[in-house]
Amino acid sequence: MKAKKIFECTSCRKTPLTKDEIGSSKKLLGIDTTELYCIDCLAAYLEVTPDDIREKIQMFKEDGCELFK
Ligand SMILES: [Zn+2]
Repeated sequence: MKAKKIFECTSCRKTPLTKDEIGSSKKLLGIDTTELYCIDCLAAYLEVTPDDIREKIQMFKEDGCELFK
C-alpha cells in the first residue's frame, strides 16, 4: 500500500500545502529542500511580504516552470 505523502509547513504545520506553496518553496529554497513552507511562513523566512511571494509564483508560472504544472 502506498502512503499518500502529505506536505505540511515546516514552520506553522499548516497542511496540506497547495501546489503553489510547494512549488515556491522548492523554487526559492532549492529543488532538494526538505523544508516546505506555506506562503506566509516562506515570506517571513525570506523577509519579504506574502504578496512578493505571490508575485514570484505568478512569474514562475508565466515562465512555464515545471514545478507549477
Ligand atoms: Zn506556515
